[in-house]
Amino acid sequence: MTNVVLFLCEGLVYVAVMVTLLHLRHRLGLGVFIAALGVLHFIETYLAAVFYVQLPFGVISPGSAVLFAGKLLMILLLYVKEDAATVRQPIYGLLAGNFITVALSLLLQMHQTVSAVSNRSADLAFIDEMGWLMLWGTLLLYLDSLLIILLYERIGRWTRGFLTLRFLICGVVVLTFDQAGFYLALHALNGAPAEVFWGGWIAKMGAAIVYSLILGAYLHFSSHSLSVVRQPIGDIFNTLTFRERYEDLLSRSGRDMLTGVLDRSRFEFEAPRLIRNAVMSGSVISLIMIDADHFKSINDRFGHLEGDRVLKSVTDAIQAGLRPNDHLFRYGGEEFVVLCEGLDHGSALSRAEQLRLRVLGGVTTSDQSAVTVSIGVASTPTDGTTMRDLLSKAYMRLYEAKRRGRNCVVGNA
Ligand code: GH3
Ligand code: MG
Ligand code: MG
Repeated sequence: MTNVVLFLCEGLVYVAVMVTLLHLRHRLGLGVFIAALGVLHFIETYLAAVFYVQLPFGVISPGSAVLFAGKLLMILLLYVKEDAATVRQPIYGLLAGNFITVALSLLLQMHQTVSAVSNRSADLAFIDEMGWLMLWGTLLLYLDSLLIILLYERIGRWTRGFLTLRFLICGVVVLTFDQAGFYLALHALNGAPAEVFWGGWIAKMGAAIVYSLILGAYLHFSSHSLSVVRQPIGDIFNTLTFRERYEDLLSRSGRDMLTGVLDRSRFEFEAPRLIRNAVMSGSVISLIMIDADHFKSINDRFGHLEGDRVLKSVTDAIQAGLRPNDHLFRYGGEEFVVLCEGLDHGSALSRAEQLRLRVLGGVTTSDQSAVTVSIGVASTPTDGTTMRDLLSKAYMRLYEAKRRGRNCVVGNA
């Protein structure tokens, strides 16, 4: 009984820490989660090779029941929270690390070792066993990882909304497949009896249930909308690169027809990422919101076509004043947003002032009267660290600029 409780505690510690690392990935960087997964892989292999305890239904290793089962579900969770291009990294990283371990094990066995600490000597048989079992385990892990992701996608249609069930089915099917594969190797290598299969299988099913319940609850409360991607199961490499294709497609679309600059949809897509990158790297970013003054009256006086021409000239004037790290978007009819990477509030205010002067000096209506813009500026970290924070502050300041009589820039007072 104590052993069952200990297993449960180990599983809880594992999942609590790993889910926390994954959850904080935007603050800590994803490398922390992936490196932790890699380090745990070592102890998992060691435990699975030599560390077994008696449970009511068989002899079980925490290496496979807690750590291996956990790792597979963490890989699936990473896929769910990020995408295929991201989950590919630990899958191939573990594969590469395992192959290097096997290659080094083969070389290590050729050493003549000495005992540096009394009563301790290198366990060459262990290294040998690790080598060959790992080779098989490695290939199996690779198949398991692909299988669990494809299965997750496949059953999405009829488990929609039941994430715990979806995780449970994936865990049960893939861990059964894995147990069968690993048992076959153990049976072939050292004639392991059938009880080894059943004991390990029951433990993995227990792990699948406990982990799915926890991960289901986590996903439910971390309130991320989860899209169901419908991809044919045979189309694995397309699946694995769909994000890259999506971004490629996006880079060729999302441009505004009239002015040729990026449109609002691209802003919604790019801005959170640019802001997050700045915040994560400890850098700053500023948002400049520009609105043409009395534009309605330009339309009314000169007609819509002339209005369009003026709008294009305003865009050109703004664009001419930008630097490589500035990103211009047409946010609305005659409203533009510039995101300036690496620009603090003071510098953003002078950039905004330059843009205002460029429009003032360079854009006129057909009767040669000047066209002006009003500008609001907001910057991380003082005005907030999300797109929503920066937008609302910049909007407030833009309206303050209108209130002060237009053709001016307003920043953090
Ligand atoms: P304010 O100084 O307060 O911003 O005055 P405004 O007239 O610019 O304010 P408002 O936002 O009410 O009007 C914006 C106008 O811009 C309304 C719309 O007809 C015009 N507009 C928006 N998009 C386009 C466009 O693509 N082409 C043309 N010609 N006009 C547009
Ligand atoms: Mg407007
Ligand atoms: Mg306007």
